[in-house]
Amino acid sequence: MVNASLNPKRTVAELKELRGLTADENGAQRVAFTPTWTKARAWLRKKLEALPVEIHNDAAGNTWTTLRGESNRTLLIGGHMDSVPNGGWLDGCLNVLAGVEILRRIHSQFNGKPPVTVRLVDWADEEGARFGKSLFGSSACSGNLDMNEARGLVDKDGIKLPDALKNVGVDFEHVKDSGQELKNTSAYLELHIEQGPVLLDLDLPLGAVLGTFGVERHAVTFHGQAAHSGSTPMNRRKDAFLAAAKMSPEIYRIAGRSHGGVCTIGSCTTKPGIVTSVVAECRITLDQRHLDGPALAKMLQEAKDASEKFAEEGNVNVSWERLWQIAPRPFNDELIALCDEAIRETCGKSHRLPSGPLHDAAEVARAGVPTVMMFVQSLHGISHNKIEDTREEHLALCVTAFDKLAEKAMKWIQQR
Ligand SMILES: [Zn+2]
Repeated sequence: MVNASLNPKRTVAELKELRGLTADENGAQRVAFTPTWTKARAWLRKKLEALPVEIHNDAAGNTWTTLRGESNRTLLIGGHMDSVPNGGWLDGCLNVLAGVEILRRIHSQFNGKPPVTVRLVDWADEEGARFGKSLFGSSACSGNLDMNEARGLVDKDGIKLPDALKNVGVDFEHVKDSGQELKNTSAYLELHIEQGPVLLDLDLPLGAVLGTFGVERHAVTFHGQAAHSGSTPMNRRKDAFLAAAKMSPEIYRIAGRSHGGVCTIGSCTTKPGIVTSVVAECRITLDQRHLDGPALAKMLQEAKDASEKFAEEGNVNVSWERLWQIAPRPFNDELIALCDEAIRETCGKSHRLPSGPLHDAAEVARAGVPTVMMFVQSLHGISHNKIEDTREEHLALCVTAFDKLAEKAMKWIQQR
């Protein structure tokens, strides 16, 4: 349903207004828990106060705006006002400002009383730019924040996260009380700039997101023997680098047959690391990502098997150490279908794609709320950079399509 009161051009104008207020020549400066972030949030609050909504901050510093409906069952729309330092002008705030426009449309269409309750959340510190830990507000809300780890986080000036939170009125020990906000939430929607080149390469403005990738991150160390580069015949060497190097083309083969996974060897260090010695020890890091859990496990097993084969061929040993892991977060199938439908009604063609980066939506999905995201094309396929951009007509299209999705999701909630 097209509604005359939706004004996507206003969203574009407001994004520019926010940029004027919170960016400098190096890009957006809305780093969480800083004065510029507080200024951005105060500006947002003024926009929202024009509507008959209730606004409050929760125990984790997330801001919730509620338009009460005839039912307590709630459609939740989310985004984040915070940015990385020298960030792009759309990452996070596009989602929030599209949500503001949708609240306006719903308010006017239903005379202030929609059939279900509609809420907008501005998550606190999605980026984790200052303390090195992303998804702070949403992981506190989902209950997955590791309190012991977070308690010890320190910024580059030596300030602890709990002290920085105290400055903005948040008591660290109670941040998980935020979780009560999700009760009655029947669906969660998040719009985001893609931050990669998939939609750009397909020449499509919008895509429906299938979920966020699971990640397996490991250090793989090959152990050989140091030997003189002049006196050691080639057939007598235990060359740790030779075995490690064979992993490089192998991970392309593993990713290639995985139906959508990606693998990266991001670093390689050698010992003794001198020009006159065969490498005794070679440590590489391997990052593997896939939307499907079993497929991710298979990619990992194949990499392990290959490493053992190459070690045996080279007469060296290999050891593995897990650095980090997170499970895939598939989104809700019915909401993905509605998102696809909203996109096709808006611009004719849709595409389904996974998200490589994590988003707050992954935490909401993890908390058991049916979730979907919509991506809008990213020019240059780049984000977390001042050159991040999206064509203005695509920005307008994404607000229209996201509004259609909100409408469909409200009906979906009513029918459940
Ligand atoms: Zn973001």
